[in-house]
Amino acid sequence: MSDGFWKTLFRSNNEKSPSKAACSKKLTFDPKTIVSDAIDEAITELGLLEMAAKPNLEVLVKRCMREGFRAVATAHRKDGAQLDKSEKKELGIRANAFMSRQAASELTEKGMESPLKAHFLTLWRADFTIDRARHLLNASQQDFGRITVISGGHKGCTICETTSENTFDPCGVSPFPPKGCVNAGCNRMFISFVDYTAARKSKMKG
Ligand SMILES: [Zn+2]
Repeated sequence: MSDGFWKTLFRSNNEKSPSKAACSKKLTFDPKTIVSDAIDEAITELGLLEMAAKPNLEVLVKRCMREGFRAVATAHRKDGAQLDKSEKKELGIRANAFMSRQAASELTEKGMESPLKAHFLTLWRADFTIDRARHLLNASQQDFGRITVISGGHKGCTICETTSENTFDPCGVSPFPPKGCVNAGCNRMFISFVDYTAARKSKMKG
């Protein structure tokens, strides 16, 4: 995916003149740094990967939308010189499981407890944050743009379950997983849409 494509998705809010009904407040995040911020949050909150993994994750996360984060994480573990049999055994993984020296070096002590999931979960968490941010930005740039929350298949997270199907103004809402969400990869999705009923009412008022 070219950088140009990525930039278009995260065009600065200022490049389009803000319209009166689009956003009552400011966005809670900076679209220019959200990719980096989402990765920081996922690394810090999950604690499975070292911060040194960030440059690799920045490249990998851009492929997630097209390839899926599970496939992208596996490809990263597969890419490059592999740990030998005894090193894999020490790490507690199957001899035929992929684990490159690079990927292994990115694991924290906590990450070493689930070495085959560490990259996958960190990418999942960051990718969903970026996707929510994309929808928030998109809605904020439209007249009467709104957000609907979908918590697809969420288990054990009351915050995510109770806000499912709620509708929000895109501004003032955080793209990050809610504090206290028990899931490593939070499944909360935001879908942007235009509230045509409100738009029509406003037009009638003149
Ligand atoms: Zn959640």
